[in-house]
Amino acid sequence: MPTLAEVLEAQTIEAAPELVESIDRNRLRCHACGHACPIPDGASGVCRVRFNRGGILYAPYGYVGGVQCDPVEKKPFFHAHPGALAFSFGMLGCDLHCSYCQNWVTSQALRDPQAVALPKETSPAVLVAEASRLGARIVVSTYNEPLITSEWAVAIFKEARAAGLMTAFVSNGNATPRVLAYLRPWVDLYKVDLKSFDDRHYRQLGGRLEPILSTIRALHGMDIWLEIVTLLIPGFNDSADEIDRLTSFVASVSPDIPWHVTAFHKDYRMNDPDNTTPEMLVSAAELGRRNGLRYVYAGNIPGRVGDFENTRCHQCRALLIERDGYQILQYRLTPAGSCPKCGTRIPGRWSSAFEGQISAAPFVPAILRLRQL
Ligand code: SF4
Repeated sequence: MPTLAEVLEAQTIEAAPELVESIDRNRLRCHACGHACPIPDGASGVCRVRFNRGGILYAPYGYVGGVQCDPVEKKPFFHAHPGALAFSFGMLGCDLHCSYCQNWVTSQALRDPQAVALPKETSPAVLVAEASRLGARIVVSTYNEPLITSEWAVAIFKEARAAGLMTAFVSNGNATPRVLAYLRPWVDLYKVDLKSFDDRHYRQLGGRLEPILSTIRALHGMDIWLEIVTLLIPGFNDSADEIDRLTSFVASVSPDIPWHVTAFHKDYRMNDPDNTTPEMLVSAAELGRRNGLRYVYAGNIPGRVGDFENTRCHQCRALLIERDGYQILQYRLTPAGSCPKCGTRIPGRWSSAFEGQISAAPFVPAILRLRQL
């Protein structure tokens, strides 16, 4: 019986040349994520899914660790085709090791023997055909860290674009200039998880703050729609000082970037902090708004965060989109994506009209049967 690592090693292709640099006779540098690992022949990078064999860097390809259809609000994107179905796929592995990860079964599959995720063989054509059949408007690389599996995402996104679908990354943002340039032609929407504004906290998670901030600045300068999420963890990143600095930074890049502050619940190896309360979320959201952010949302405790689930015009405060959790209750934007009351252009990627909602709850596609590896 092959190990998971052996199974995944076979599911690879040669990495994109844009993401590889030769350092010397024995080592390659991978530029798929901010670690920029120097990898000797026979070794793998920090993520354990990209490796050097005989002077060639290999990258994951040809399988999924999971597929699910989510409302786009779950990713979360609140300013991109509200109500759309987001066909979401993930592979295995991550470049960080957050102790509170809510996707740890897939992200930590190669590090933690308790994370038992079964990869299934598939192709871009099969996934995109299924997304189209289900009425999805967006195809999303998510669940594991998509940067480390960028080649696979780009292959699927090329197929998705040809089928008239949009594409998205749900990512920790630990990118490099090279990988962003590689992704830029193929990614429409990008969610960055800004986990903290303290480099020491990032180091506890296995990363650094600066590459994430650079990614946010770079994405804002590209034609990619960006939204940012912060999971508010009591005692870890929820001090007023840290939220003040974090939201001031986002507002300094652009006050139009939507910022979602979401509630922590005990998960994986982080069981000490209490769960985030609605009051904590609202307090952080209000601080973000005071710091100049125009579109602030308090997530995943529906019905208990007041108006912070809804979108209002930043100019006249007219209600534009009313939500209850992932469900769209009202949609009032004009066909041009403007406020119907004062005419202010609302930043985002909007349809000419609300196109309804196939599902306000996630579901696993029933017909998609893939061969387990
Ligand atoms: S994706 Fe990141 S962690 Fe993985 S090998 Fe490349 S630089 Fe290292």
